[in-house]
Amino acid sequence: MKWWIVYQNIVKSNTLDQASHTLRGLDFWRNILFTNIIMYLLPVSFIALIPGVIMSFSSNIPLLGVYDMLAVLMFAAIGLVPNITLLVRKWLFVLTLYFITVVLLIYLGSFGPGLLYFLAITIFISLIFGTRQGYISVGLNTFLCLGFAVVIHFQVLEVKLVNIYSIGSWIAVSSNLIFLGLVIVASLDLLFSGLQATIEKEDHLQTRLKAEGVALEKMVNVLQTKNQELEQFAYIASHDLQEPLQTVSSFTILLEKQYQGQLDQTADVYLNYISQSVSRMQALISGLLDYARIGHEKQPELVNCNDILKAVMDDLDATIKASNANIKLGHFPTIEVYPVEFKQLFQNLVSNAIKFRKEGIFPEISITAAEEQSSWVFSVADNGIGIDKVFYEKIFVIYQRLHPRSKYEGTGIGLAHCKKIVELHGGKIWVESEPNAGSIFYFRIPKK
Ligand code: ADP
Repeated sequence: MKWWIVYQNIVKSNTLDQASHTLRGLDFWRNILFTNIIMYLLPVSFIALIPGVIMSFSSNIPLLGVYDMLAVLMFAAIGLVPNITLLVRKWLFVLTLYFITVVLLIYLGSFGPGLLYFLAITIFISLIFGTRQGYISVGLNTFLCLGFAVVIHFQVLEVKLVNIYSIGSWIAVSSNLIFLGLVIVASLDLLFSGLQATIEKEDHLQTRLKAEGVALEKMVNVLQTKNQELEQFAYIASHDLQEPLQTVSSFTILLEKQYQGQLDQTADVYLNYISQSVSRMQALISGLLDYARIGHEKQPELVNCNDILKAVMDDLDATIKASNANIKLGHFPTIEVYPVEFKQLFQNLVSNAIKFRKEGIFPEISITAAEEQSSWVFSVADNGIGIDKVFYEKIFVIYQRLHPRSKYEGTGIGLAHCKKIVELHGGKIWVESEPNAGSIFYFRIPKK
């Protein structure tokens, strides 16, 4: 129905002026309602015009037909003539309705729909202007009814109305109509003030939400900048620290080589401590450097994860054999990841699964991938020493360990690496475990 859409667009562009689009709340909807009333009234009134005109001529009241046509022309002008303000259109609409009412009352008396129009005008005015104007229209209706009462009583005009109504019945009918009008406007008033309050509340909430959203966005930006600064700092610090540390390490080795046995026994022990601490510090710093480097100037690639896991198994071959670990691999998808980092992620989880095994039990490790609607969930499960619930978060923090080095070697960086790598892929990592009952490390990677 192309013509209907064209017609709708014409009426809308004519009746909804620029100012209407900037309105909020009920005022906006009043204008939309008015546009729709005009949009549907116009074709309907054209259809109603034909029997109306035929009837007026057959009943020998041709003037009624002429007035009918005038009213329809008026509606057409309100909807189709451009460059008239919305307010003027609304008033023209009300005037036309009053014109129809008076004409119908005069020509058809109680047989016609004239009195009903009074009621309809009050409702229309309350809807498109507001209930204050609705009350005014009830007042105007009362005034007009009184006018007609005078006409009937004094038989001023030789019209149908005078012939059909007695003053008594006129007062009875019109007072009922005015009473009904008042009840309708009062009810609409209640409804609209409730609606207006709700809309204002919602507006207020939306404004607050917007303001909070902006503040939050600012905070996120600040946080992101600070995070970048911190990463930069960690990178530079760990990079620059490596050099003097290397010097300390080299000279400790030289000292050990040249003076071992020449100094007293305590000095030998001290030298040993220094050399161990330097090695450890080197491990910590190089871990930090790797951490700061994760995802640096790299692009994700489409990678077959089966290949990644095969490479991890090859790299860990010696450890796997030494621990008699049994590793079961599932089927893995081809997805877009940072390949080096993704391999590192599996490597850390698998080597932890082997490292934190229970004494006297061979490690049983299972690695799987499960597809979800918008992501892949990978898991690495072991039958190791397990983790208490209170440490579920702590273990992912850099340098946090749950065991002394004498029991399990490590720097406490592995899981922090894993977390950063998963987050680099827009995902989340978590653990489910119980002491002595093994652990399952999960991570979810979004598909896009
Ligand atoms: P590291 O392995 O160097 O100690 P990680 O960051 O990899 O550091 O792990 C942090 C801590 O989390 C470990 O010290 C250990 O206590 C605990 N953990 C990690 N993986 C496991 C596991 N598979 N089973 C039990 N505990 C684990």
